[in-house]
Amino acid sequence: MNNKNRIKTLVVAVAIAASVLTLVSLSSAQDNAPSGVIETRSHVFTPVADGIYHVTGTGAVNLISHAMLIEGEHDLLVVDSHVSPNAGMALIDAIKSVSAKPVRYLINTHYHFDHAHGNQVFPQDVEIIGHRYTREKLSGELGNVLEESTFISFTEGVPGQIEQMQAQLATTENTDERAELQGRIAVQQAHLNSLAGIEPTPPNITIEDSMSIFQTVRGGGREIQIAHLGRGHTGGDVVVFLPEEKIIYTGDLMVPFLPYMGDAHVDEWPDALERLKTFDFDTLLPGHGPIVEGKERIDMLQAYLRDLWSNTEALKQRGLSAEQAAEQIDMTAHSGNYPQIRGAGADVRAIRRIYQLLDEA
Ligand SMILES: [Zn+2]
Repeated sequence: MNNKNRIKTLVVAVAIAASVLTLVSLSSAQDNAPSGVIETRSHVFTPVADGIYHVTGTGAVNLISHAMLIEGEHDLLVVDSHVSPNAGMALIDAIKSVSAKPVRYLINTHYHFDHAHGNQVFPQDVEIIGHRYTREKLSGELGNVLEESTFISFTEGVPGQIEQMQAQLATTENTDERAELQGRIAVQQAHLNSLAGIEPTPPNITIEDSMSIFQTVRGGGREIQIAHLGRGHTGGDVVVFLPEEKIIYTGDLMVPFLPYMGDAHVDEWPDALERLKTFDFDTLLPGHGPIVEGKERIDMLQAYLRDLWSNTEALKQRGLSAEQAAEQIDMTAHSGNYPQIRGAGADVRAIRRIYQLLDEA
């Protein structure tokens, strides 16, 4: 398999994994059937405290990432805007089923395409808040994010994925399977069309370390803390912490499976996660995957990142190329925590990134 096909296959696999995760989190939301779940065509709003919702997708629109909605007495605060103008519009529409109040703030947990490329469809009077690095990335100051490998490696496979499903459709006779495939093709086609209209839109309010918003709620105020815990998944992740409700939204700094590391600060990430543990929360809302209770999974990610770093460094010292190291690296010690690890190997984008960081050091 040549590299381009390998990337394509990987992209398709990641896209499928992402949609499976969406389905998993959706079905678990339905199984637990917490009272007050609001489902629209495109979104599921799962209440995790009074007026606070973990926002996931139904699969009818390709969102890729989750979001969070916080309802105050007069206005709304949204965390993350999904993957495209199309997905961002779907979010804005879906929110109307929860509340008629206007969105006042949109927070970007980080600059990645799947969390911030819906920014552009939010009304002009919505304040967009993010880390200064997120602004530098989305404003183009550090280069065009649409030309970077992070965006390209996750999107260049979409046309091939559609072609693959169309080929499958051509040979499928079962009516239910055909309908399901046609639905998935339509979702991915809408996604692909919307990717062409992306205009990266940066935060207009930036933070370096931390800030708080005091949202008016009936009978008082709610503190919403936004904090940068150091470099990790990107150069400028922020978490959104609700001290009263003991809820934290982590974006991709902490997810319950192996996150993308293609432009991460893999060596500094465990320290940021150590700071995350100092927050007094019971419920962790990740940017992908199901809600996490407790802090044990943070230890698991720290352990993986530290081993990935040291194992990669050892392979580099032995003279292996990043591609060879990505095939040979043995991370199976972590397969109990991460069932996706089956035998040797790791995401080549993560290994290339570690090589780059080692070369820069
Ligand atoms: Zn990300």
